Amino acid sequence: MAKDKNSKMVRDVSSFVRPYRVSDGEDFRLKSFSTDDKGGLDKEQAQKILDLNRERMNDLQERLYAEDRWSLLLIFQGMDAAGKDSAIEHVLHGINPQGCDVHSFKVPTSKELDHDFLWRSTVALPERGRIGIFNRSYYEELVVVRVHPEILTKQRIPSKLVTKSIWQERFEDIRSFERYLSRNGTMILKFFLNVSKEEQRQRFLERLEEPSKWWKFSMADVGERHLWDKYQAAWQDAIGHTATAHAPWHVVPADHKWFARLVISSAIVQALEKIDPKYPKVDKKASPEYEQVRRALLAEAPKKNAK
Ligand code: AMP
Ligand code: MG
Repeated sequence: MAKDKNSKMVRDVSSFVRPYRVSDGEDFRLKSFSTDDKGGLDKEQAQKILDLNRERMNDLQERLYAEDRWSLLLIFQGMDAAGKDSAIEHVLHGINPQGCDVHSFKVPTSKELDHDFLWRSTVALPERGRIGIFNRSYYEELVVVRVHPEILTKQRIPSKLVTKSIWQERFEDIRSFERYLSRNGTMILKFFLNVSKEEQRQRFLERLEEPSKWWKFSMADVGERHLWDKYQAAWQDAIGHTATAHAPWHVVPADHKWFARLVISSAIVQALEKIDPKYPKVDKKASPEYEQVRRALLAEAPKKNAK
């Protein structure tokens, strides 16, 4: 009975994931993905499904942790103000923090620049049994670095290795890296929060008009906004070349934050359901010992009338 209920729910959530999932990047066109879909729902309806997803995720995460075999890597990308931080906050809400790690990738430090571009991500990967969240990631290496070639110069890669093929080579390296991870038990889900330029304008305005949001605003963001088309082109190329069955992208409509959350949490529930982690079985032979310990602990109980 309970199983029927769960499988029905999973079937239901797949309709919020399928339209936005890209697991084969051939012919990928970013423009053909909506930024303002609501999946035919209103906010209240979405909230109910989100609550159910949260319960489900909680249980699945506990099992993932107990089984200690698989890990889940969630990558969040998007233009400035696309809602990465708040999406992560919501995904994590209600999840046991012991089983999660969040890493925010900023402009690389000089130590990080002293290594290959995947190095800092490699050391931040989730352990078995855990959920790892990347707020930005090595995908910046295909986008911000491509839009600003001067960043590439700072990476001090031997110049004869920096050729016109560098982006194709990075696509290939990332595809191989993700395939390697998936072959070792890391399930990877990538989310591109697809926000419209108009929605970004409104969110920037909100940040400027609300003093408590000033800290989120950076003058550099305005400069990047002027490069919108270049960024969109770089993202299209990056997603198109790295969307695979074992590390799919989800181009999440992000103009309505509540709908973006629904798509993301549904994709996570679906992935964890697919892993279907199990609590480790207790060795039957150990059971008599368990019984002995249980009896001993019972016998230790304080006597009711003892002085
Ligand atoms: P925020 O996420 O708003 O705190 O900003 C972090 C900044 O770090 C963004 O402007 C990113 O583009 C930048 N960033 C992240 N990773 C890289 C990278 N690998 N190379 C250059 N800039 C990066
Ligand atoms: Mg920022």
